[in-house]
Amino acid sequence: MTIQQPTPIRGARTRTARVPTKPHGQWAVDGNEPLNGNEEWKLDDNGLNVRERIESIYAQGGFESIDPTDLHGRFRWWGLYTQRKPGIDGGRTAQLEPHELEDEYFMMRVRIDGGQLTTEQLRVIGEISTEFARDTADVTDRQNVQLHWVEVQSVPEIWRRLEAVGLSTTEACGDVPRVILGSPVAGIAADELIDPTPQIREIADRFIGDRSLSNLPRKYKTAITGHPSQDVVHEINDCSFVAVEHPELGIGYDLWVAGALSVVPRLGERLGVFVTPDRVADVWHGVTQIFRDYGYRRLRNKARLKFLLADWGVEKFREVLETEYLDSPLPDGPAAPKPTSIGDHVGIHAQKDGRFFVGAAPLVGRVSGSTLTALANLAEAHGSQRIRTTPHQKLLVLDIEESRIESLVKGLDEIGLSARPSLFRRGTIACTGIEFCKLAIVETKVNAAKAIEQLEERLGALEPEIGRPITLHVNGCPNSCARIQTADIGLKGQLVLIDGEQVPGYQVHLGGGLANVDREEAGLGRTVRGLKVPADGIADYAERVIRRYLADRESSD
Ligand code: SF4
Repeated sequence: MTIQQPTPIRGARTRTARVPTKPHGQWAVDGNEPLNGNEEWKLDDNGLNVRERIESIYAQGGFESIDPTDLHGRFRWWGLYTQRKPGIDGGRTAQLEPHELEDEYFMMRVRIDGGQLTTEQLRVIGEISTEFARDTADVTDRQNVQLHWVEVQSVPEIWRRLEAVGLSTTEACGDVPRVILGSPVAGIAADELIDPTPQIREIADRFIGDRSLSNLPRKYKTAITGHPSQDVVHEINDCSFVAVEHPELGIGYDLWVAGALSVVPRLGERLGVFVTPDRVADVWHGVTQIFRDYGYRRLRNKARLKFLLADWGVEKFREVLETEYLDSPLPDGPAAPKPTSIGDHVGIHAQKDGRFFVGAAPLVGRVSGSTLTALANLAEAHGSQRIRTTPHQKLLVLDIEESRIESLVKGLDEIGLSARPSLFRRGTIACTGIEFCKLAIVETKVNAAKAIEQLEERLGALEPEIGRPITLHVNGCPNSCARIQTADIGLKGQLVLIDGEQVPGYQVHLGGGLANVDREEAGLGRTVRGLKVPADGIADYAERVIRRYLADRESSD
């Protein structure tokens, strides 16, 4: 592929190429001399190597024996972060050094590529939680399960149990390819275009834990879906494949690159290529190597792939991919059509084999080890051995015969999982927040759960009129782990000035959303200048927005 030079516009000022004054730290351009402390220790010793030290030294010596660079850096390569010390309020987050905020317990993230679990695997996670993590478990919006209160002494035994059933924490955090989001209904949905499971498996088997990709400039996120609801939030991942039908080549994937949120959000862009299923893993490898070799490493807050794409543009990105990293160019491809359904998969749905899957909503992703074990037992008692997690903090039970559906739904209710949730419970997600996260300024899950209850009480009768889940995403700081900018109402945790006093609260973002059945394409929510909500005022604010939305809709009808 050749890069077309744009035709100059008469009278337009010619932009001269900007000569960077400082190197960006791109390995392929500047060499791999580290330009900051993080890059230095990453190069000194690969993050994956810390496992051996955890097993042979730290698990015996306890928290005090851990080398600080391993503790604050390389532990993440195995899904481990220190959690926040209880009782430190959000006002002190920015004042204290990270080590002053941290507890000697860990958050451990279990990686679940494609969100696919057997009931046996789910039971093992549940039992680990009960035995080693004070019965904590959160289903995250990246299809992982997070445990808390884990001691370093328990980590080798947890790994042994996880790995015995084919699970791991490998590269669950860190500057590596994180968990691969996959359509939660892969291989079962009646309206699926293609089952992406083989592609997810191939990437995971070939590249996760591969040391050639375990020192990237920053985290690297992947998503793959074969479902027409485009159910993997593909616009905000670094490398995404969305199923599409090519008029001559059949079913394959549309490639998107360089989406990411955080403080500088940017939606991913299509490269305009068509990827046949057999090339997905190689194309993913090519994009990932571009990030490794050309990604910016000088400043961590400018390191995500989105910054490289912003400078290169789509044409150059595609050219480098095809000429430097692939055996042959990729054909041009069409965009996938607008999604056909919401894609959170909550409720009861037909599978292609005549059975059904049931999607249930925990309260803002919070479950427990006991709940997960109970869910495994319940699913098996109803003839299922397969569970899925979703990017919306939901859980699906697959392979249910029609006659068993109502019994399953009742059982799910009894363990706190609702297959017929209110629109408010269905549309609300929350990040970890101040309970465990060292970066948090504000509580999230408890506040969001309270808001759901209040909204159900106040607006429950209006649900038929509202008609669709109102997405409410609650974040404990500006990092956007719960996707502030892609919700109808996004709440960003910060200290806010209310009546002259600084209190924990949220900055409001309004009107965001990913492409879905209700909107043509993704758009980032806008900050509503000066609009701050106190931590206990989520329901009041959401109620006002929803009532205004209904009134506006009525007056425009
Ligand atoms: Fe922690 Fe902030 Fe992410 Fe929430 S958004 S989990 S508070 S880093």
